[in-house]
This record gives sequence, C-alpha cells and structure tokens, in this order.
Amino acid sequence: MKLEQFERYPLTFGPTPIEHLPRLTDALGGKVQIYAKREDCNSGLAFGGNKLRKLEYIVPDAIASGADTLVSIGGVQSNHTRMVAATAAKIGMKCVVVQEKWVPHFDAVYDRVGNILLTRLMGADSRLVEDGFDIGIRKSWEDAMQSVRDAGGTPYGIPAGASVHKYGGLGYVHFAEEVRAQEAELGFKFDYVIVCVVTGSTQAGMIVGFAAQDRADRVIGIDASGTLEQTRDQVRRIVDNTSELVELGRPVSEEEIVINPDYAYPAYGVPSEETNDAIRLAAKTEAMITDPVYEGKSMQGMIDLVGKGRFPEGSRILYAHLGGAPALNGYSYYYKDG
Ligand code: PLP
Repeated sequence: MKLEQFERYPLTFGPTPIEHLPRLTDALGGKVQIYAKREDCNSGLAFGGNKLRKLEYIVPDAIASGADTLVSIGGVQSNHTRMVAATAAKIGMKCVVVQEKWVPHFDAVYDRVGNILLTRLMGADSRLVEDGFDIGIRKSWEDAMQSVRDAGGTPYGIPAGASVHKYGGLGYVHFAEEVRAQEAELGFKFDYVIVCVVTGSTQAGMIVGFAAQDRADRVIGIDASGTLEQTRDQVRRIVDNTSELVELGRPVSEEEIVINPDYAYPAYGVPSEETNDAIRLAAKTEAMITDPVYEGKSMQGMIDLVGKGRFPEGSRILYAHLGGAPALNGYSYYYKDG
C-alpha cells in the first residue's frame, strides 16, 4: 500500500490518543473492554473532529489549484462546514458554506449556536437554504461555487463530509496505519472498531486501511444517515477509488463492508430515547461527550451490540470518537434534566 506518496498538510496535533474506558466497560457488564480513539481531541482548530484528518490530504490540492475560497455544504449544525471554515481561516483562504435544512428538529437557537456559531465566528459566509437531507452532490453547492466565480474569486469545492472528493478517503487509511503503530506500543490488538457512518469516507478509509491488515470486516459502521442504501453505495465507491489510489492491490469484498442500520431511527439528526440514554451513560461514566446526530448513535449501537453479546467475551473494542459535541447546544431541550 502506498499512502506516503500523498502530501499531507498538518491540521491536527498528530496521532490521537487511545484511552481505556473502565467505568463504561463496567457499566456494560465487564465482559468486553471498551477503548476510545479520541478523534474529537485531534486539533486546536475549532474543537477538531474527523473532517480534519480528511482535509489534511485535501488542502495541498486546494492550494495547488490556485483557489482563494473553499466552498462546502452540510446541514445547519454541520461539523463538516465548521471544519472547512476552520481550515480556510488557518490557511488564509475565504470560505463559503451552504447550510441546508437536513434535520426536522426545532430548538429556538438551533441556527445560532454550536457549529454554526463557530462557523460564522471564523469568518465563513454561511448561507442557509431550505433543501432537505441528501449526502450526494447538491445543486445549492454548485450554485455557491458559481457565485464565487461570478464575484471574481476562484472556488475550491469540497463535497459534504469531504467524502466524494478524490482524496476524501485517504485520511482514514492513515488512521488504520496509526492504530497499527499504537497497537504495537500497547502490546495488544483491537478486535473491533466501531464507527459512525453517514457520508462514508471515514469508514471507507478505515476499510481500505484495515484491508491492508486483513481485518476490514472488523470495522463495524453504525449508520446515522437513515438512508442506508445511499450511504452503502457511497462507501463502496469511496472504497474502490481509495483502494486504487493507495494501490491496495486487491478488490475489497462486500463482506468487508459492514454497516449496521439499526440505530439511525427515527431520522438523521434526530436522537431516539435510546440515543439520549447512550449519550448520558458515556457522559456520566467517562465524561466523554457525544452528540445526538452522530456519535450518540454509534455509542447507542455499541452499547446495544455489547448487551446482545455480539462480541465474544474478552474482546477489545475501539470506539472511534469522531467529534461533533458542539451540535449538542442546538438540542438543549432534550437535556434540561441531564
Ligand atoms: N461523526 C461526526 C461527529 C461527524 O461530523 C460525521 C460527519 O458526517 C460523522 C461521524 C460521519 O462521518 P462520515 O460522514 O465520514 O461518514
């Protein structure tokens, strides 16, 4: 596998810590050991998160293109647009982000706090539009690109979640290599990785990276999109493109792409009661803060699967915490009583 051939612009602190979660482990019965890889603590840029690992491989291309404006898209409380705004500020580019109505959720301050607040604070031109949830390439994003050109600027487009970008999968190939090195230091290997999946490139990158170690099927994606077919297709395409880029040397089989659809209900961006219970449990046992859109759902999935005995006794499970906590501010009504 050839990952080193791709240039990487540093936006993160370096390898993210892996920590044991003993109180969560005990709360789940103690038969499997729970660890977290803290992608949520990966950078000093606007609270960090998984998108920065992807953007590290995209920024060199953006700079080489001669662009002066990063253009991207997400929901109103998008972590991704926050991270694109942060990257633009850090590398001295302008930023336009389209924020669509992806979530059927009402909270009086939803479009003013958390991610969107930070996005605006970092100087991005944040444009609210009415369109609903869709992880594909969007007309509103293409319109925003054109508006930059019309104003005499040079846009560089980054699709939702930095996923359907030619280099979108590379960051999480690197994650798999990092885990391998950390396992060598720890003196043991993880049996499973749990990861939230929506636009696809986080899990797709992991699948390619762990396929090089012959354990891609141990990456358990927990869907939070509620549009499983579209997410699975997108993961498949990113896996194929990324495998080719890094010269994996073999096709990735369908069995190596594992996505569990059982926890995305009731809808993208809306937590179930079980999601909120999972968020509370991680917070009360480990002070580990997860959000109602993404990590709360993967936390819920992990808790439920452990409870159902999905993992053999003695397994070590690595929960990839991808960030996203700022969105909690837009969901305050759920947590008035803790
Ligand atoms: N977790 C968080 C906090 C996110 O912001 C995202 C972004 O969509 C995801 C998980 C899902 O990652 P991906 O879109 O690469 O599937």
